[in-house]
Amino acid sequence: MTKHSLFIIYLLAAFFIAGCSRYPQQIKRLQWCTMGTIAAVQSTDLASAQKLRTTAIDSFGKVEDELSAWNPESDLSTINNRAGSNTPTPVSAAFTNILKISTDFASLSDGAFNPLIGPVLNAWGFNGTTAPAAPPADADLSKALMLANTAEIRVTTSGNTPLVSLGLPGMQLDFGAVAKGYAVDIVWQKATKQGLSNLLIDLGGNLRAMGEAQPGRGGWLTGIKNPFNKNRLIAKVLLLDGEAISTSGNYERFVEIKGERCAHIIDGRTAKPVKGMAGVTVIAPDAATADALSTTLFITGVEKGEMLLEKHFTNSLALWIPDRQPAEIIATDRMKQRLQKISVPYR
Ligand code: AMP
Ligand code: MG
Repeated sequence: MTKHSLFIIYLLAAFFIAGCSRYPQQIKRLQWCTMGTIAAVQSTDLASAQKLRTTAIDSFGKVEDELSAWNPESDLSTINNRAGSNTPTPVSAAFTNILKISTDFASLSDGAFNPLIGPVLNAWGFNGTTAPAAPPADADLSKALMLANTAEIRVTTSGNTPLVSLGLPGMQLDFGAVAKGYAVDIVWQKATKQGLSNLLIDLGGNLRAMGEAQPGRGGWLTGIKNPFNKNRLIAKVLLLDGEAISTSGNYERFVEIKGERCAHIIDGRTAKPVKGMAGVTVIAPDAATADALSTTLFITGVEKGEMLLEKHFTNSLALWIPDRQPAEIIATDRMKQRLQKISVPYR
């Protein structure tokens, strides 16, 4: 065969492959590490993805500087260190917004969700503390829960600047359940103002969509991880323009105490790590709501969670994956209508 005829075969093959694919444009993914997790932006348009990445690196960095429980210099750490000393700390509008979302979730969930869960998390060996050899004593957990009193969070103002302080020594705010989602919303809003479109923003499993992945796709097809095998998907869902999705799981962060796995999500009513739930995924109109809601529904479980959704979050959809075999998905009716490629039984 001559070089010339080989070239024609290659050319025909290329046309054939391009013709067979409904979506010939490739999606580019740019990712980096931040806030203790992986952030990523995706688009078929590399220039848009790069622009969004620049915005996101800056915004996620600012959120980490202000809100991280791990960063001893953050505003959150300063407030925690000053707890009980009657010394208010100036904070940003973002801080007070997250505080408001968190305290709202605390009251809606009757304390299952609680942004003052810090001392309880420490008792179980999270946030840089060492896991205890045995589960903490009930008396110690009761003490830690006494510090989780949202009525002791004080918000005042000096001029236009909000000030926050905590009333009792030892109180500790923790925004780990909502800060990533909130940070995604900040970036999503900035990108919208910049006129960017057809992008997906992801911060450690908190995703928010702009437009669609490719012309004709109608959104961004997103995978939901199988909590029992992180390399596999348990289902997929098409995320529509503007929607956010968040997953809370017992498999990413946990400590082992006496051979038992203790998940990093604590029931704020009992101060004990949640048992019986492997993963919860929520689709909501914004990423802060999706993030706070997935943590809350992980704690409340299916029955109470469905009641909460019906009463306060009618625009949000959820699914639960109980921590038992054989694996199954329990989904709200509207979530069921949206799921694709489901690999386990569901109801
Ligand atoms: P997520 O992965 O969004 O579900 O958030 C889990 C994180 O939320 C944990 O690592 C803690 O920082 C924090 N957290 C744990 N339990 C609670 C709770 N009951 N209320 C609020 N935040 C919590
Ligand atoms: Mg969350």
